[in-house]
Amino acid sequence: MADRMCPSCHTVLTLKEKDYPMGSAFLKADRFHVDIYECPECHGVRLYAAEPELVTCPKCGSLHSPREACAVCALNGAIDEATH
Ligand SMILES: [Zn+2]
Ligand SMILES: [Zn+2]
Repeated sequence: MADRMCPSCHTVLTLKEKDYPMGSAFLKADRFHVDIYECPECHGVRLYAAEPELVTCPKCGSLHSPREACAVCALNGAIDEATH
């Protein structure tokens, strides 16, 4: 990932808090995670949407967030339930 830069000082921002959960204020279903950066020059704090690291589902091989259950498997399970 490229370094985050302060737009006013053009200084590399310091990562203060990674993947910080903001609660469900913005998104109802999914929690909104942010990376919190601070500028060492002007002490401005900037928030960036956290880039989720994806994991590979061992069952179906699809990529999904480690914070969530695999959507494909959940869907397959729902279909299985409906057809039984
Ligand atoms: Zn700054
Ligand atoms: Zn899966």
